[in-house]
Amino acid sequence: MKPLNTDRISIISVLPLLLMHTVTTVLVCYSTVSWFAVSFGVFMYYARMFGISAGFHRYFAHRSYKTSRVFQFIMAFLATSATQRGPLWWASLHRVHHKHSDDLEDVHSPIHRGFWWSHIGWLFVKAYNSPSTENMKDFYKYPEIKWLDRFHYVPPIILGFATYILGSILELKAPSLHTSGFELLTWGYFVSTVVLYHGTFTVNSLCHLFGSRPHNTGDYSRNNGWIALITMGEGWHNNHHYYQSSERQGMYWWQIDGSHYVLKFLSFFRIVWDLRTFPKKTAPVDTMEESVALPAPAPAIEPQATV
Ligand SMILES: [Zn+2]
Ligand SMILES: [Zn+2]
Repeated sequence: MKPLNTDRISIISVLPLLLMHTVTTVLVCYSTVSWFAVSFGVFMYYARMFGISAGFHRYFAHRSYKTSRVFQFIMAFLATSATQRGPLWWASLHRVHHKHSDDLEDVHSPIHRGFWWSHIGWLFVKAYNSPSTENMKDFYKYPEIKWLDRFHYVPPIILGFATYILGSILELKAPSLHTSGFELLTWGYFVSTVVLYHGTFTVNSLCHLFGSRPHNTGDYSRNNGWIALITMGEGWHNNHHYYQSSERQGMYWWQIDGSHYVLKFLSFFRIVWDLRTFPKKTAPVDTMEESVALPAPAPAIEPQATV
């Protein structure tokens, strides 16, 4: 097995991510804060986490349900507004992750290169900045999806402006909310987006390190209820690695799976349909214990990266 070539690390690849963190820090220092702005930021976090979870992940990467072309675009637009690049890029690298889970060709396994690599370090690799999206050919026939993937900065810019305009209108029309355009832009877009980065990244990092493993998946994926709460259900990651094509990732009523609830609701109106699920007969009894032995790791390798 050939390790991925990581000797081309580029700061430019990750400049937007670094800029987002820097600008957010500066804005927080100068912005006012109100309950409305923070609540709006939390809403924007979960709305766009739904886009990432139900859109980029469960639909574009795994095709675990069907929908119309219009709603497909809406989901892609919502998820792209999370500022985590476009649908083809995101889902393509995720398909590579499943193909090579925790082996040496996994894009972001914490097993070989550690927590920080899996959480954020892999984004510095030039090759992952513009990978081949050959494994996403099933979506090539949609020019609007290809456009969105190419011009992935458009939805975040629109969202940023919309948030600023909304805050400015509320400042004039609803002064009792004590918000403003600048404040809502800071908390509703920038802070929300940076927290959303790390919420999403925990699935790649912590969900391969901490939690239970009821299924023998041959990798290190784990179920983590805390991460499920902040990722609209993505924390049931061991379930997901076992039943990759299942739209539903929480297998029991107590395994909170926000994206599944919303998609189920949308299915009542035929906005989405053919939600795939796991075979009930083979569902194991989850004990919340580490019930399956860990696989032997592949030989560790040293990153050959140079900045
Ligand atoms: Zn997946
Ligand atoms: Zn995984």
